[in-house]
Amino acid sequence: MYDAIIIGGGLAGSSLAAHLARAGRSVLLLEKRSLPADKLCGEFLSPEVTGSLRRLGVLDEVRSAGAHPIRRARITSAGGASFESALPGTALGLSRRRLDALLFENARRAGADARDGTKARAVEGALGEGFSVETGDGERFAGRLVFGAYGRRGVLDRTLERPFLEKDAPLVAFKAHYDAVRPKTALPDGAIEVHAFPGGYCGLARIETGAVNACWIARTALLKDAGGDPEAMAAQTLSQNPALAERMNAMERASEEFEATSQVTLRTKGTFAGGVCMVGDTAGMIAPLCGDGMAMALRAAELAAGPAEDVLDGRRSATGFRNAYERRWTRAFRTRLALGRFAHRSGLHPLLASAVVRAFRWAPPLGRWFIRRTRGG
Ligand SMILES: Cc1cc2nc3c(=O)[nH]c(=O)nc-3n(C[C@H](O)[C@H](O)[C@H](O)COP(=O)(O)OP(=O)(O)OC[C@H]3O[C@@H](n4cnc5c(N)ncnc54)[C@H](O)[C@@H]3O)c2cc1C
Repeated sequence: MYDAIIIGGGLAGSSLAAHLARAGRSVLLLEKRSLPADKLCGEFLSPEVTGSLRRLGVLDEVRSAGAHPIRRARITSAGGASFESALPGTALGLSRRRLDALLFENARRAGADARDGTKARAVEGALGEGFSVETGDGERFAGRLVFGAYGRRGVLDRTLERPFLEKDAPLVAFKAHYDAVRPKTALPDGAIEVHAFPGGYCGLARIETGAVNACWIARTALLKDAGGDPEAMAAQTLSQNPALAERMNAMERASEEFEATSQVTLRTKGTFAGGVCMVGDTAGMIAPLCGDGMAMALRAAELAAGPAEDVLDGRRSATGFRNAYERRWTRAFRTRLALGRFAHRSGLHPLLASAVVRAFRWAPPLGRWFIRRTRGG
């Protein structure tokens, strides 16, 4: 019987595993992929991650992995509007291949029984009574608590009958790494850029290798219009913003294939399902435009760890655990998520995107306020 079984070894899962294991809990961490592995993401770590990484004890390791320091942000619309601002601190560009493996290893070092290449297939049980988790190859593990940290959407959402699955999720996303071949017009060092195009937007950020990560999210209809081919979709859509087209023309794709995902939703999904405590994207993902999902995943793990320890020690009831985490989560993330959804909707509409970028340009404090507030400031 483990104190906690954590399903998913991304940012939320590996950091929660490290926090609980360090506090002396027996923790099983299950990650379906064999690490290291690529993952779809903008790979931009917002400035406030520094605190979470320090508390995890991995900040120096992240820096010495060569994380690219990012201090400025630029947003453009397809109509040619552009807004640039300093970030409220130093952000970092680091590939998910590197970051996820580093955090998973940190959880193992902290004492968690961390198993990659192991997929959780089903969960049974109840909060207060204990759970059983079955893996893809039929092994069963017992745990007093189970945490769902398996990301945006997974098989367990279906077995847990989560209501968000009934709703439309008409967004697709892609990412690839690129080498800058025309340095004059390539993404400058130390900058994150988000370029809107009709029906979507694309983020550009440099990572530890010096390559540029390009990651875009768009209406699924745009992929259908391109015959389902991401390459054709990129050619048709990314060229519609002149600033983005200039950057893309200055680069050559280094990744052999695109990382891809579909059915992306920005809905809030709930902090518990079938007694399983949801941490990170499983509870709700902020719009990618904000570049704050990873910071929120790390923070959510911290918000869950305290109440989890209390319930394991018998200082809180199962209901008290549920209420405490729900309250902390809502207080920390509700405003950020709502602002993110507004920004996302604006980003998809060319006229709205232009109006927002022009408003930021006309009143820079408004733009800075937006950047701060979507980071919980
Ligand atoms: C297009 C796009 C761009 C983004 N860009 C950024 C950005 O630049 N900056 C930023 O901060 N955020 C960004 N995000 C958001 C960010 O990627 C997520 O918020 C973050 O990864 C959430 O971490 P997590 O640990 O909750 O989930 P994940 O990182 O998705 O980790 C979940 C893990 O669970 C594993 N898993 C899934 N199912 C199972 C199972 N059944 N058993 C075992 N393991 C399982 C998966 O393999 C995965 O490793 C972006 C998102 C999108 C869609």
